Amino acid sequence: MDTVNRLVLLGTKGGPAIRPGGPMPTASLLEIGGRRCVVDCGLGVSKGLVEAGVNLKTLDLVFITHLHSDHVLELGPLLHTAWTTGLATPVQVFGPPGTQAVWDGFVASLRYDIDLRIDDEGRPDLRALVQVEEYAEGPLAVDGLSVRALRVDHPPVTDCFALRFDSPDWSVTFSSDTAYFPPLAEFARGTDILVHEAMLERGVDRLVARTGNGSRLKAHITRSHTEAVDAARIAAAADVGMLVLHHLIPADDPGITEADWLAAVAPAFDGPTVVATDGLSLSPKPAAS
Ligand SMILES: [Zn+2]
Ligand SMILES: [Zn+2]
Repeated sequence: MDTVNRLVLLGTKGGPAIRPGGPMPTASLLEIGGRRCVVDCGLGVSKGLVEAGVNLKTLDLVFITHLHSDHVLELGPLLHTAWTTGLATPVQVFGPPGTQAVWDGFVASLRYDIDLRIDDEGRPDLRALVQVEEYAEGPLAVDGLSVRALRVDHPPVTDCFALRFDSPDWSVTFSSDTAYFPPLAEFARGTDILVHEAMLERGVDRLVARTGNGSRLKAHITRSHTEAVDAARIAAAADVGMLVLHHLIPADDPGITEADWLAAVAPAFDGPTVVATDGLSLSPKPAAS
C-alpha cells in the first residue's frame, strides 16, 4: 500500500456520549511504514476515515485498545461499511480478549443483510474477509510493522493496552485509557509522538452534572483516567518528540479552552504539545496540515 506517514485524530473526546457541535468518541488513523492502521473505533470512525481521504475498501489493519464502547462501538459498522464500499481484501483486527465475541455478535445481528448482499449482489462473504487476533501484552503479530502492547491501569477494565508503533523512520505511542501509569514512560521512551489521554478534574464536575444519569460517573472518571499534568509527566520522563492530548475529558465544555489544557501541561513538559481536535493531521515532517 502506498501511504505517506501521518497521524489523523479522527475522534478526540473521552466517553461515548455525543452532543450538538461537539467532537466524536475515540478513533485515530495512523499511516506508518506503508501500512494503514485504524486505532480504536468509537462512533464516527467510518465518516472520520472518509473525511481523512481514506477509501474504506483499502482498510488494512484495525487495533482496539480495550472494549469500552467509546473505543469499539463502530468496529462492526466500519467493517460492514468498508465491505459495502467494495472491500475485497482481508482485514486484520487486533483486539483484547473478547473482541472476537464483539465481532461475532455484530455479524450475527446483521446476518439477514450480509447473507442477502452475498446472494443478491454477489459480494464476497464479509465473515471470511475479517480475521480477529486477540492479543495480550508484548509484541503483536503484525507483518512488516513493529507493534507492541503494554497493559495499562484502567479499572475496572483489566484488558486495556497502550500500543506503540515503530517503523524505521517514525514512531507513535498511544496510551489508551489509563490512570496515571509511570511504566508508560519506559514503554514510550523516545517515541516521536505520544498520544496520551487527558482530563482536567475541574471540568469533570460540570460534565457529570450535565450527563445526569451516572451516580458513580465521577468516581469512575477520576480513578481510571489521567490528569493532563500527569500525561505531561509521562511525556517528559519518556523524552518524547511531541505530546498529543487526546480522549479529552471534558471535550466539549466551552468553559475549558485549548489554553487551559496547555497551561495544565506546561509545568511538567516543555516540548511541543498539541490538544487534539477531530480531523487534526500530524506528520513526521514539520509541515503538519
Ligand atoms: Zn475511553
Ligand atoms: Zn475506557
